[in-house]
Amino acid sequence: MRGVDDLADEVMKIGFACTRCGACCTEVSGDSNLVIVSPAEVRAVAGAAGIPADEVADPFPEYLDGEDGRRFTFDWCLRREGGRCRFLGDGRCRVYAARPWICRTYPFMLDGDRLIVSECPGLGRPIGREAAVALARALLDRQKAEAREEAGIRAVMEAVPVPSGSVAVIDSEGVWVVHG
Ligand code: SF4
Repeated sequence: MRGVDDLADEVMKIGFACTRCGACCTEVSGDSNLVIVSPAEVRAVAGAAGIPADEVADPFPEYLDGEDGRRFTFDWCLRREGGRCRFLGDGRCRVYAARPWICRTYPFMLDGDRLIVSECPGLGRPIGREAAVALARALLDRQKAEAREEAGIRAVMEAVPVPSGSVAVIDSEGVWVVHG
């Protein structure tokens, strides 16, 4: 696993400062703003927005086909309305304090020890050491949270069958039939 300082050094070399353009919260190209969220993140966003959890997210839109008419996908994506995240209001995030890991760390993500950088107009702008360290910590925490969620999904898959003929979401807390 990468160290915080080493990762912060790399972020500083690349440079990043959010321009508040909102592009990462808007579908600018096919599925560009799909924000995958765990059940815990769904609850956090629901709490911040003051809405029921079942109005926060939709099933991740790539399904796998199983036997006996089973179809399933893993985890959820923040709901979009007209291609925009439903929590984007007047160019600002309405659930900023509770925004998911993907939003906290965009345009960066870790693939193992490799830092992946997505398109963003904020890249190349100077970033201070403190902000780079905070971003590096968030990236490492995100990686741990994603590993926990993946392990949870694997455990659910071993323990809970998707009912025959159903379309379901499998997350770390269970199997949720979305169409019977
Ligand atoms: S939760 Fe906030 S930061 Fe994340 S995509 Fe939606 S509006 Fe953007």
